[in-house]
Amino acid sequence: MKYVIGNWKMNGDAKKKAEFRAILSDKVIICVPFHLLATGFGAQDCSASEDGAHTGEVSAKMIADAGARACIVGHSERRRAFNETNEIVAKKASRCLDAGLIPIICVGEMEKGAPLASVEDQVWQSIPKADTIKGEIIVAYEPVWAIGTGLTPTPADIERVHAAIAKILDSLGLGGTAILYGGSVNAVNAAEIMALKNVGGVLVGGASLEIDQFKEIINAGK
Ligand code: PEP
Repeated sequence: MKYVIGNWKMNGDAKKKAEFRAILSDKVIICVPFHLLATGFGAQDCSASEDGAHTGEVSAKMIADAGARACIVGHSERRRAFNETNEIVAKKASRCLDAGLIPIICVGEMEKGAPLASVEDQVWQSIPKADTIKGEIIVAYEPVWAIGTGLTPTPADIERVHAAIAKILDSLGLGGTAILYGGSVNAVNAAEIMALKNVGGVLVGGASLEIDQFKEIINAGK
């Protein structure tokens, strides 16, 4: 069974949450807006600070206290809109690990055809120091140009990038870490993508908002 993780972004309400609750499992997590956090769900961001005078921020500990088990960090929408650097992303990932959350660390090139090194650099710099990692982490490869556009890389390109990420993780002693693909995954392309080498599952935006389509993606990963 592969990971199938939904990212609702700034969408969803209590009614939708109730509908999706029944399909959560060990490998199925929905990352919801903060006000919907509950047992088994995930968050979409956390503060880089531990606690204290940071009005409006939500800490990893608070997310864990709400019952959540995972948290996306470094999503490209946040890197872009809030100038989140790799250093900030690594700090947030560390806060997640300290709180017992699985950080879902997002990386991905801005433009189609960008050199592989741009993703590799993000991986090297966005992952907390390996000797400090005590729990599980997940890395999500999300080419920015594929998010919400209906475009996806070729299967060969996904395999090439995932192999490069797996090599870095191996060299850090983090072999076996799930590497998810994200960017315009849907019920039609999910099975082919999840069958690719080194693809440990998918991170799904738009198609995670509609339960029948999302269930089809879950089934594609079984
Ligand atoms: C995302 O934003 O993480 C994402 C993968 O979006 P979409 O599936 O809509 O491309």
